[in-house]
Amino acid sequence: MSGQKRIVIENCAVATVDADGTEHASGHLVVAGDRVESVGPGPAPRDLADVVRRVDGTGHLVTPGLVNTHHHFYQWLTRGLAQNANLFDWLVALYPVWARIDEPMVEAAAQGSLAMMARGGVTTAMDHHYVFPRGAGDLLAAEIRAARAVGVRFTAARGSMDRGESTGGLPPDFAVESTDAALAATEEAVRTHHDPSPGSMLHVAVAPCSPFSVSTELLREAATLARRLGVRLHTHGSETVEEERFCHDRFGMGPTAYLESTGWLGPDVWMAHCVHMTDADLSAFAATGTGVAHCPSSNARLAAGIARVPDMLAAGIPVGLGVDGTASNESGELHTELRNALLVSRLGPHRERALTARQALRLGTLGGARVLGRADEIGSLEPGKLADLVLWRLDGLGHSTIEDPVAALVLGAPAPVTLSLVGGVPVVEDGRLLTVDEDTVARTARAQSRRLLAAA
Ligand code: ZN
Repeated sequence: MSGQKRIVIENCAVATVDADGTEHASGHLVVAGDRVESVGPGPAPRDLADVVRRVDGTGHLVTPGLVNTHHHFYQWLTRGLAQNANLFDWLVALYPVWARIDEPMVEAAAQGSLAMMARGGVTTAMDHHYVFPRGAGDLLAAEIRAARAVGVRFTAARGSMDRGESTGGLPPDFAVESTDAALAATEEAVRTHHDPSPGSMLHVAVAPCSPFSVSTELLREAATLARRLGVRLHTHGSETVEEERFCHDRFGMGPTAYLESTGWLGPDVWMAHCVHMTDADLSAFAATGTGVAHCPSSNARLAAGIARVPDMLAAGIPVGLGVDGTASNESGELHTELRNALLVSRLGPHRERALTARQALRLGTLGGARVLGRADEIGSLEPGKLADLVLWRLDGLGHSTIEDPVAALVLGAPAPVTLSLVGGVPVVEDGRLLTVDEDTVARTARAQSRRLLAAA
């Protein structure tokens, strides 16, 4: 790595989130180019060449950057609606609004969603976009532009819906695509945008929306398509009791058995929610390496229930955290999901032996990296991995009396981000985004939100 510019961070606590959970009460980290070169206890070596920046991390904790595994950016424009509804009633209330989105709206919503997450320590984002009204423009390209502008790594999941009201689905017919059109557009999106190279800033996944908004044929064909193209598969699964009932009524089996019957379990698949899972469902996920995007705030907001995360982890199932769309998690932040994942899990049967603070941090970092199929490159601070990291300030009012830095980060108030790097490039400094102007993003999103609500 000689000749590459180096950034040194030292005098801070370090939580590497490596396989052994290595931590240093006071340690250092050296970034060379876009990669972590070294990490260890004590100060960094003094004789390093090409050091362009030396950061004194006193009073801070450095962790891997947070990895979001489930989101719907467009919902940034429809926050705070249907406040007291369960999933199905909430969807029925919101689909007619969402069906009016267009490219400028989606770009503004994506910028808002991404800026909010990046400011709070997210370095890898994902989006599951499945509403493609006719004539709305290139919505996926709008999201990709926004991710580039904000400067985070991105997995764009090209979603789809082909089961409208007239064929027993929940969305209105004018908000869905034909099966063939959805598959063709998805293949086109992968061919145009997916970058499988090392250090990639952009992956594309194949992502029909859910068992109750998609035909069996689309699920089957989407799985075949993704495997032919060598990309990952994503959908919603086992979110609510209403979905469970829908699957039993319609297919004579629960959501996991139904998804399995259409080719949707495997190490290349991750599903959002997975709240209502039997022991047999968990065994099937574990046996196939199917991943889970756990979205505790959204599950609480929509009264969906408590996912069995301690049981999933015990079974070896890959689990990451998800913000989910901001119409069901208005905060739009991932760092608060670390805390909420821990708190919600302790309301379940495992009580105080459910998640620890360190397990929560692992879910939000390496767990998410596994779920997105990128654990070899991101999710922990180890030599050779991409330099996606966050330096959290823990000596301020919110945290200075919590001795354990990981507990301070997870259990305390949202910690200010002093510095975040994506591939060695600074994205946040002293709590401010360097890449986009927050106030401009907020103003534009508000204007587009009003346009959408007026059009609906
Ligand atoms: Zn979702």
